[in-house]
Amino acid sequence: MSAVVGRLAPSPTGGQHLGNARTYLIAWLSVRSQGGTIILRMEDIDSPRVKEDAAQQAIDDLHWLGLDWDIGPIVQTTRLAKYQAALEELKSKELVYPCTCTRKDIEQAASAPHLEHEMPPYPGLCAHRRVADADSIPDKPYAWRFRSTEVPAYDDVFAGHIKPRVEYGGDFVVWKNNNTPAYQLAVVVDDAEMGVTEVVRGDDLIPSTPRQLQLYSALNLQAPTFAHVPLVVGTDGRRLAKRHGDTRLASYRQQGVTPEEIVGYLAWSCGWQNYRSPITARELVAKFRWECLPREKWVVEGNPFR
Ligand code: GLU
Ligand code: ZN
Repeated sequence: MSAVVGRLAPSPTGGQHLGNARTYLIAWLSVRSQGGTIILRMEDIDSPRVKEDAAQQAIDDLHWLGLDWDIGPIVQTTRLAKYQAALEELKSKELVYPCTCTRKDIEQAASAPHLEHEMPPYPGLCAHRRVADADSIPDKPYAWRFRSTEVPAYDDVFAGHIKPRVEYGGDFVVWKNNNTPAYQLAVVVDDAEMGVTEVVRGDDLIPSTPRQLQLYSALNLQAPTFAHVPLVVGTDGRRLAKRHGDTRLASYRQQGVTPEEIVGYLAWSCGWQNYRSPITARELVAKFRWECLPREKWVVEGNPFR
């Protein structure tokens, strides 16, 4: 048995689209081509954004595409005690502090530029606090923020050497002020506990990786390898979204597009076949090569299946 363990980690926030499908296909093929184990994890801790039935929809979409898994679905909201335990460990090491800043406080106090979707580095307004100071904070809600020291560089399996950048730095939230775990902490606790050895995901998450690596060190956990792959974008260069039309798998399915056509199209976009010939995910396993995958974002114009 191979020791490789990968995961598919959909956020159940709506139907999965062509961009999600491409990333899942790459992640799935990487593990299957090494004879490894795949875990399906539902990242549903972001409660206000999570839609009902969306978890089942994500499962249906993956099945329809021909992607399978060996373990799961494992659902994050059933695992809150584990995230809490990790937070307690960080508290016991004084690696977190209570933060009462609002988004506005942070934006106003920050001067560094920020990436699209990324907050500017946190300017440290609450960094003077110690863990014990949480007890004397009046009713105001507070978050727990990780005391970041140095932004680590790392070698990405696909994206290459990732140097530390100011946008990847700053103290970051590990526990939100609504008393739920933040993505950064949950994903590290899960990947470590589930024995994940390789993470394959969209390259919009590169800024999160140096943060997660700091948590691995702080919690004495073994970090996986990371491979960040280019996103699928519209002709405006922005990540696939509603404004680019309906690219949800469910809607292609309704139009009578077959999973083999979708997979064939995606395999062509990844350089594993020269034409868009229909093919199953299973048949692609032997053709999977990291070297073929284009470094550029994949641009979708209109409906590629019409
Ligand atoms: N649940 C996240 C997403 O769908 C993926 C997080 C990860 O792969 O680390 O965007
Ligand atoms: Zn603060």
